[in-house]
Amino acid sequence: MPPKHDIPDPVSALRATVLGSGSSGNALAVCCGEQTLLLDCGFSARETDRRLLSAGIDPASVRAVLVSHEHSDHIRGVRVFSSRHRIPVYASRGTRIASDLDRQVPELHTVAPGEPVTVGSITVTAFRTSHDAAEPLGFRFEGACGCTLGVLTDTGTVTGEALEALEACDVLAIESNHDEGMLENGPYPWFLKRRIRSARGHLSNHDAAALLARLTSDRLTRVVGLHLSSTNNTSRLATSSLAGALARLGHPASVEAASKEVSCVLRP
Ligand SMILES: [Zn+2]
Ligand SMILES: [Zn+2]
Repeated sequence: MPPKHDIPDPVSALRATVLGSGSSGNALAVCCGEQTLLLDCGFSARETDRRLLSAGIDPASVRAVLVSHEHSDHIRGVRVFSSRHRIPVYASRGTRIASDLDRQVPELHTVAPGEPVTVGSITVTAFRTSHDAAEPLGFRFEGACGCTLGVLTDTGTVTGEALEALEACDVLAIESNHDEGMLENGPYPWFLKRRIRSARGHLSNHDAAALLARLTSDRLTRVVGLHLSSTNNTSRLATSSLAGALARLGHPASVEAASKEVSCVLRP
C-alpha cells in the first residue's frame, strides 16, 4: 500500500485540537480538510484513538506523526500508533537516534530545522528548541488556506529560530509550564527544580508572557498555554499571565490553557 500522505485533499481551514498536554502525555491534532497530522503521541495508541474520536477526528484520517523529542510524555504511543495506522513518522536526526525509532516504526523521515515538509495540504517547518533532549524541535504549521499555527513547548529558553518561526501566526500554542513561586515553594526536589528552571528545561508563565509580548501581530487571534504542570501551576495562573501580557499591549487575541481537550479552529 502506498504511503497515505500522498493523497491530496481540498483546500479548507486549518484546525488544531489539543488531545492532551503536560507531563502525563502530549498530543496535538492538526487537521486540514480530511487529513490530520499528529504532533507527538504521548499516550498509548488506544488512548490516542479514543481521544481523537472524542474530539470528532477519525483516527484513520491521521497521515503522519511528528515527534518533537524523545521524552516519554511525547513519544510513548508512537510505535504502536504508527504501526497500527501504517503511517510515517517524522523526527529530527537526534531524536531518531536517541529514541531508536528507526527499528520500531514502519516508515521514518528526518525533519531538519528550517526545511519545510508537506504532508497532504499541511506544510510544517521545524525549528530548534532548547531542552534536555537530543535534538528537540518546535513547529510552525501552515494550511493550504494560508492559516498558520505555531507550537512551542518543552524549551527552557526561546531560541532565535523559534522567534522567527512563530512570527505572524494566527494561533500560538506556547508552553506555560510553571508558576515560578509555586515551583520554588513546591514539593519537587532541588535537582528537579533546577532542571525545570534551566535553559534546557521548561518555560514558566512569566517566560510565556514575555514571549507573547514579542510575538503579537495583527494576525494573532488565539493563544493556548501548553504543558502546564499539575504540581507547580494552575490554569487560572497561566491564563491570567498570558492575558495580562496581551492586555498590556491592548491586543484582542483570546487566551486559554490546554486542559484535557482544547479545540482551536483557525480562521480560513
Ligand atoms: Zn514534555
Ligand atoms: Zn521534554
